Amino acid sequence: MKIVCLGGGPAGLYFSILAKKANPDWNVTVIERNRADATFGWGVVFSDKTMDGFREADPETHCAITRAFRHWDDIDVFFKGAKTTSGGHGFCGIARIKLLQILQQRAAGLGVNLIFETEVKDPDDYTSHYDLVVASDGVSSPTRRKYEDVFRPNVQVRTNRFIWLGTRKKLDAFTFDFRETEWGWFNLHAYRFDEDWSTFIVETPEKNWLRAGLDRMDLSASIALCESIFAERLDGNRLVSNARHSSSSAVWLKFKRILCEKWHHNNIVLIGDAAHTAHFAIGSGTKLAMEDAMALARVFRRMKAIPANRCSAIRRSASSRRSNCKTQPAIAWSGSKTSSATFISIRRSSPIAS
Ligand SMILES: Cc1cc2nc3c(=O)[nH]c(=O)nc-3n(C[C@H](O)[C@H](O)[C@H](O)COP(=O)(O)OP(=O)(O)OC[C@H]3O[C@@H](n4cnc5c(N)ncnc54)[C@H](O)[C@@H]3O)c2cc1C
Repeated sequence: MKIVCLGGGPAGLYFSILAKKANPDWNVTVIERNRADATFGWGVVFSDKTMDGFREADPETHCAITRAFRHWDDIDVFFKGAKTTSGGHGFCGIARIKLLQILQQRAAGLGVNLIFETEVKDPDDYTSHYDLVVASDGVSSPTRRKYEDVFRPNVQVRTNRFIWLGTRKKLDAFTFDFRETEWGWFNLHAYRFDEDWSTFIVETPEKNWLRAGLDRMDLSASIALCESIFAERLDGNRLVSNARHSSSSAVWLKFKRILCEKWHHNNIVLIGDAAHTAHFAIGSGTKLAMEDAMALARVFRRMKAIPANRCSAIRRSASSRRSNCKTQPAIAWSGSKTSSATFISIRRSSPIAS
């Protein structure tokens, strides 16, 4: 069996690990356009329940993530000068780059062929050479674009703007802070993901973003404004961007909600952000991407030969995952109904819901 994963993010790497582990004689390749050490963003979060699933799927990866993560239980919400703390949630944060390194090392150790700095131009360059083509090529998936009429993605671009920054401020809880400014409401989602760093995402409706003049500011001015709005949370610590290569307006993004109608086409299957996205306010994008990988790997586990019913196996896995992800707000942070409900109600009742 020859498998190629187009894209070496969490979804493609984790699937390659699980497929190779279950079938060491399979030829499994991951093709990634970036360098091994290149990444966007800062940290990602998993619930305790998600970690339990990882332990079951591959104890080695779970153990390496556990050694590198930072665990906490509380959510702090700051609103109109009051702080509300909700406890007992159970999260862990990890640097995205660290997660990718762990997955890369585990994949390489199992004998997965990792190819970096290679751009996939057309998925059909691979479909006839591989039995299974896993399109794990992220939110802008070229594979999804090529077969748009088959996958039928429903794409909704949310109106709010957000910027993903980092800070050395050591936060003790998942932190939401709603600030009313002269330009309107700004919201913070922040959490610590290792000994030194916290992720710091600032979000605001487009009209407030324009009123504040952020469309005309360079990156340093944008960061300075965020530092002044959330000065109380930062305690004098600076905010840092790791998207210095982008222009200022490019780093203020709009969230794209994507859900494909169909996740497979012949021997191609979409997983992770290529198939669906999850809003950053409820986290879970990486969790869902890795759980897609687990679901697909389960279908192919212990198949010693190329199965005659390969396409129907892909179809079964894709349909079942799709129904799960369709209800993703309800299963976000699926470890605990309480935490899921907390996030959803914070989001829905917030002054900046988009
Ligand atoms: C602001 C923000 C905060 C977030 N916070 C969280 C969080 O707290 N928790 C969480 O779980 N998730 C979070 N996410 C979501 C998370 O980052 C994604 O859901 C997750 O990375 C999806 O994994 P993936 O492997 O499907 O895609 P990606 O991580 O995007 O990986 C896709 C890979 O494919 C490669 N690729 C693309 N096209 C090609 C090509 N043509 N040729 C070769 N390679 C290609 C890309 O370089 C990339 O490495 C957040 C996202 C944002 C924007």
